[in-house]
Amino acid sequence: MDLFEYQARDLFEAHGVPVLDGIVATTPAQARAAAEQLLAAGSAVVVVKAQVKTGGRGKAGGVKLARSADEAEQVAGQILGMDIKGHTVHRVMVAAGASIVSEYYFSVLLDRSERRYLAMCSVEGGMEIEQLAVERPEALARVPVDPRVGIDAAKAAEIVAAAGFDDEVGPLVAPVLERLWEVYRDEDATLVEVNPLVRTADGAIVALDGKVSLDANADFRHPAHAELEDKDAADPLEAKAKAKGLNYVKLDGEVGIIGNGAGLVMSTLDVVAYAGEAHGGVKPANFLDIGGGASAEVMANGLDIILGDPQVKAVFVNVFGGITACDAVADGIVAALAILGDEASKPLVVRLDGNNVEEGRRILREAAHPLVTLAETMDGGADKAAELAHTAA
Ligand code: GDP
Ligand code: MN
Repeated sequence: MDLFEYQARDLFEAHGVPVLDGIVATTPAQARAAAEQLLAAGSAVVVVKAQVKTGGRGKAGGVKLARSADEAEQVAGQILGMDIKGHTVHRVMVAAGASIVSEYYFSVLLDRSERRYLAMCSVEGGMEIEQLAVERPEALARVPVDPRVGIDAAKAAEIVAAAGFDDEVGPLVAPVLERLWEVYRDEDATLVEVNPLVRTADGAIVALDGKVSLDANADFRHPAHAELEDKDAADPLEAKAKAKGLNYVKLDGEVGIIGNGAGLVMSTLDVVAYAGEAHGGVKPANFLDIGGGASAEVMANGLDIILGDPQVKAVFVNVFGGITACDAVADGIVAALAILGDEASKPLVVRLDGNNVEEGRRILREAAHPLVTLAETMDGGADKAAELAHTAA
């Protein structure tokens, strides 16, 4: 889960990373009140910043300085509702303004291929880091971080030295990197990025813009993270699936997919996409793994979600019976169709294999549901489902 800047800022503050005061506003009037508060507290200027989960807000006109509450209200009016790279701005953060002397870059992220973490740091911050990495790779230090040690004082010193900080600024930056590492470790992040990390006129090091991605696999350790979720932006079908405890990801095609086991579902997506090429280019509509225990209820919930997707024209149920045998899965499908009644309105291709497959097929044959077609093989089932989706489209 990617966080908004203001959420990253709050996490930074909670872990002792120096940040400036910031107040979220959803209307120009609220932005005015926020600016009044910050100006009264001693800020000479405030910055109104679009809160969207994409970079380059500054360039797009989504970050503006204001010297008065009037001006803050006015620029908030310009920024709210703005479209930045396809993201509509629904909120701004009004932040205390910094008097910037230098802008730096720092990030720490999960390096999957090397099975460790990677810290990146540069004395040339502010600009887009992808651009810096391409144009002047030598200006971006890349320092591996051992997950068992993290960024301790020694590692922080190594990073600032590699980035080329001088003896005056390096020792000021290093402790901030240790605090940022604590955010990364203690919040189970996969990315913590600060761009820019700045030195201000009074010599302080401040994280002026933060980007944090949290690892959803660790959500169980962080009940508080649930509040960080942007419920407005969630796909309604994905939200409904999540509420029912289903592993569902909405995609853009016409063939609904239900399978058991992430590996089988992934390969089903590939096979359906391939089969679709011969049937008008239809594609898989979703990922849905109903897991090991394919009970009637789970099957009904899964079918309910998939049939609720208006883009879906046909469904391919691809189940390999293991501990939950094929007869139980077949019973589940029959019961699910009974539960759904008239709501089940799109053709279903079912391919069963594995434990007790003959009994499973017999149950489906005898139920003889008008929407259900049995397939012998995965390839055959994918082809049939793609054909049905194409005909119905
Ligand atoms: P981004 O464009 O989405 O990365 O947004 P940032 O928050 O990084 O802001 C872009 C740029 O605006 C920064 O690199 C700074 O140059 C400038 N900026 C942001 N906050 C302040 C501030 O408080 N004072 C000043 N003078 N400039 C700021
Ligand atoms: Mn930035």
